[in-house]
Amino acid sequence: MSETKDLYELGEMPPLGHVPARMYASLIRPERYGEPEQAFKVEVVDTPKPGPRQVLVYVMAAGINYNNVWAALGTPVDVVAARRKQNPAAEAFHIGGSDASGIVWAVGEGVTNVRVGDEVVLSCAMWDENAADIQAGADPITSTSCKIWGYEENWGSFAQFTRVDDYQCFKKPPKLSWEAAAAYMLVGATAYRQLMGWEPHTVKPGDPVLIWGGSGGLGSMAIQIVKAKGGIPIAVVSSESRMEHCRKLGAHGVINRTDPSFTHWGRLPDTADAAAYAEWMKGANAFRKKWSDVLGSRQGPRIVLEHPGESTIPTSILVCDNAGMVVICAGTTGYNADVDLRYLWMRQKRLQGSHFANTEQCKALNDMVIDGLVDPALADVFEFDEVGKAHQLLHTNTHPSGNLAIRVNARA
Ligand code: NDP
Repeated sequence: MSETKDLYELGEMPPLGHVPARMYASLIRPERYGEPEQAFKVEVVDTPKPGPRQVLVYVMAAGINYNNVWAALGTPVDVVAARRKQNPAAEAFHIGGSDASGIVWAVGEGVTNVRVGDEVVLSCAMWDENAADIQAGADPITSTSCKIWGYEENWGSFAQFTRVDDYQCFKKPPKLSWEAAAAYMLVGATAYRQLMGWEPHTVKPGDPVLIWGGSGGLGSMAIQIVKAKGGIPIAVVSSESRMEHCRKLGAHGVINRTDPSFTHWGRLPDTADAAAYAEWMKGANAFRKKWSDVLGSRQGPRIVLEHPGESTIPTSILVCDNAGMVVICAGTTGYNADVDLRYLWMRQKRLQGSHFANTEQCKALNDMVIDGLVDPALADVFEFDEVGKAHQLLHTNTHPSGNLAIRVNARA
């Protein structure tokens, strides 16, 4: 065996299976909470050890997601304080990163699904398989024990090594680069559950589907999943270049939400204020007409893939087809959204919350990527010392269309 060290430079591969005592990590400390560009800093920390049913992965590349914009800001949740409240011995720092590709480097007791040397991609949900709700048959992703690795849990992928549970490991699509492989699982599996996880509202051939933020990470995945399932994806974006991105991914049509006739975004006016309400409806009806023009039919979307929340929920509820579903996984623009309940009950619509995905859904999405039905839509790759810069672009909505990745141990 070649000589071993206790710290390796990025990209300098230790002998397979040798776990150095220390590693580089781009991490957040509470004293740096604020703009992502300042919050992340490369430091050296101890390498975590895998416990029973845990896997240590040598990270080749990491994906960038919106959750670590929140982590950097320290709001709405102070992730370090939240962990230390539950466990005072928890680390005083946060290693984010909820997407990765890499090589299995060490396994804990009882791991049977992967072996040292396997090339894997990682999913981001962790749960306690012994939790009472899971033992009683609950979908693990709905368990009270469920946490997001690299956000609620420490030891995410912005580090040379990351620690996950064994069921988080999936086969790396052989044809993809490390960077592309790191970019799709979190958004792809989330979109998959939103679109395929809520029977009877799953995408069927011919179903029109409205996708907010079509050029974003989630949207780019959603367009391709809807198309692959035979549905009709119609995306909403805020610029010409983003419209083009959606068309290339297979969108049937695209709506530019900056159209000046759409004057109705945000909270609903009080229905008692007739003039304000009429003005709101005017903007919303202009959007509804645009939808019909793009679809070529007056049918509303059978599924609306939501995440902006506050600014768009009133529109989503209005335009959704009778007995259709608005399925939401975030509140990108705010959490206090208004729902005009009249449309919900009279037209028998469904407003469904959805959060990441279970193991079967991750595998189904991963198989679509392996089969070439979903492309990771990798837009840009950053170096390890640019984790903050990449999150800053997300924070200011100035990132390129598609998904972003960070090179960790992979070299250009
Ligand atoms: P991106 O930043 O890639 O995309 C977000 C998109 O939102 C942008 O492209 C932008 O598109 C759109 N947007 C911004 N402001 C508005 C607005 N006022 N009205 C309508 N659309 C707007 O993020 P992701 O796609 O990766 O994630 C989207 C959200 O989903 C985030 O909040 C993220 O945290 C959450 N999420 C939740 C998951 C879960 O499991 N619960 C998993 C994955 C993501 P444009 O300006 O072109 O309209």
